[in-house]
Amino acid sequence: MTIERVGVIGAGQMGGGIAHVLALAGYDVSLSDVNSSLIDKAIGAIRKNMGRQAGRDIIKETDIEPAIARIKPVVELGGLADCDLVIESVVENDAVKKSIFQELAKILKPETIIATNTSCISVTRLAAASGRPERFIGLHFFNPVPMMKLVEVIRGIATADATYEAVLAVVRRVGKTPAEAGDFPGFIVNRILLPLINEAVYTLYEGVGTIEAIDTCMKLGANHPMGPLQLADFIGLDTLLYAMEVMHTGLGDSKYRPCPLLIKYVEAGWHGRKTGRGFYDYHGEQPVPTR
Ligand code: NAD
Repeated sequence: MTIERVGVIGAGQMGGGIAHVLALAGYDVSLSDVNSSLIDKAIGAIRKNMGRQAGRDIIKETDIEPAIARIKPVVELGGLADCDLVIESVVENDAVKKSIFQELAKILKPETIIATNTSCISVTRLAAASGRPERFIGLHFFNPVPMMKLVEVIRGIATADATYEAVLAVVRRVGKTPAEAGDFPGFIVNRILLPLINEAVYTLYEGVGTIEAIDTCMKLGANHPMGPLQLADFIGLDTLLYAMEVMHTGLGDSKYRPCPLLIKYVEAGWHGRKTGRGFYDYHGEQPVPTR
């Protein structure tokens, strides 16, 4: 099947980025959120981010306005009726996502594919709420979407081969590299990356190293572009804790046990960059370690 019009539900950090790359690749995009001001704000951010890409010669300045013109704001889900593919990227909440899929079942053409950008929720479970599990799939983009090259593609238990092939073509057309991941907590990237970050927090908790020493070791000794505690602050400690809890519960193995120190930081409201403090304090010119 050919995919021409793509709906994106949720014009937040990720949904905006997904609309950005789709529009640049020539897709007609219908961008939806709970109110029009959120969609306008997202389109403003997309224009600014495209401007930044043009400044770095990644795209042409003349590509920006035609791409923006391909993004249609949609407030009511009914406005997505003509889409061939709908990518859901709303808050990471099971009940909210399921109610959207139940609503979409009444609106979409029978052949329309639904994809979810969930980080942690079972694709199979969400597919069951969609009424079309064979045309339902996970497309896990990475933040910031215009820069990150990977999309994990997650088939639910009932996802049809044709659905998989159709979304692979979309992933490739937006210039990303797909990698197939099984429908288990954390998929591939988070399953490997988050326990590493959690272990860095244990290393701090047990006094093996200071925040600075841990980040320096992993940057210079393992050649990571960013230290694990710096990365934790970037992801958000609340998000990290939630994902560790999902893996701990879903996989039932003590190796996914969230570090008590991570729990303490989250309880303190120290959620990382977004709250101004996490493993580092961001109130001054330079981040300062909090321990
Ligand atoms: P966000 O909070 O920036 O955006 C979520 C958007 O969804 C908001 O604009 C909100 O208004 C909208 N929304 C909420 N309920 C809605 C509804 N009923 N209908 C339409 N819109 C609704 O969140 P985000 O970081 O963009 O995350 C979105 C999804 O992407 C989540 O499932 C998250 O797990 C996943 N994800 C996030 C990241 C990341 O690094 N932030 C990476 C990969 C995947």
